Amino acid sequence: MRKKVIAGNWKMNKVSSEAAQFVDDVVGKVPDSDQVEAIVCAPFLYLSSLVEKTKGTKVQIAAQNMHFEDNGAYTGEVSPVMLKDIGVSHVVLGHSERREYFAETDETVNKKTHAAFNHGLTPIVCVGETLEQREANETMSHVGSQVEEALRGLSDEQVTNTIIAYEPIWAIGTGKTASSEDANEVCAHIRQVIKKVTSEDIAEKVVIQYGGSVKPSNVDELLAQSDIDGALVGGASLEAESFLQLVEAGIK
Ligand code: PGA
Repeated sequence: MRKKVIAGNWKMNKVSSEAAQFVDDVVGKVPDSDQVEAIVCAPFLYLSSLVEKTKGTKVQIAAQNMHFEDNGAYTGEVSPVMLKDIGVSHVVLGHSERREYFAETDETVNKKTHAAFNHGLTPIVCVGETLEQREANETMSHVGSQVEEALRGLSDEQVTNTIIAYEPIWAIGTGKTASSEDANEVCAHIRQVIKKVTSEDIAEKVVIQYGGSVKPSNVDELLAQSDIDGALVGGASLEAESFLQLVEAGIK
């Protein structure tokens, strides 16, 4: 059975004292269970201190983005080498906010996915459709092609270890969640696409998260679906208590 992976995406929120307090509040309380993983995706500035604070605990620390090159003249960027060096375990790639505001493309997401694996980081690759695409019945083709492009050229083992986060853009930060059935339908489609590019065996192992207004009151229903293996959570991950409730939902 696939484990559940709950990742809190803080986005551009919290000052350093708030980041530290959050982690202090959750580390001792995250359940010691093999069924669920808890990840905090924090701004670059805090990654180093949060990695130190969470050493030897069940909480893992992720970056929200990175460059695909190891180093070089890329002012303002952070490389996979740097993230690995300080002990970051995961990296969110291709979040819709990065695709929309920072010119992230399927091509750069693919390069970053390769770079993550080349440096021992686990990528959380985000895909999802706009409201216009959903209304035009383009969800499956759009999301399917985002997944195919992101995974292009990866080895079977790398695909197995990729986390996909399906986040319909119209459900992010809006309070609108896709119905669990609709979310599951797309996650199941993503699994079919993975099967097509690899094998059924591999597709069955890939963790596929849902994201978009996930909160303690709707997480159980989402996680009960056949193809939803976790959640990427923005707003409801900012408070320690609600983050803990979401993680606990992963072992029900
Ligand atoms: P939200 O954000 O939970 O606030 O909708 C999810 C995300 O963007 O990852």
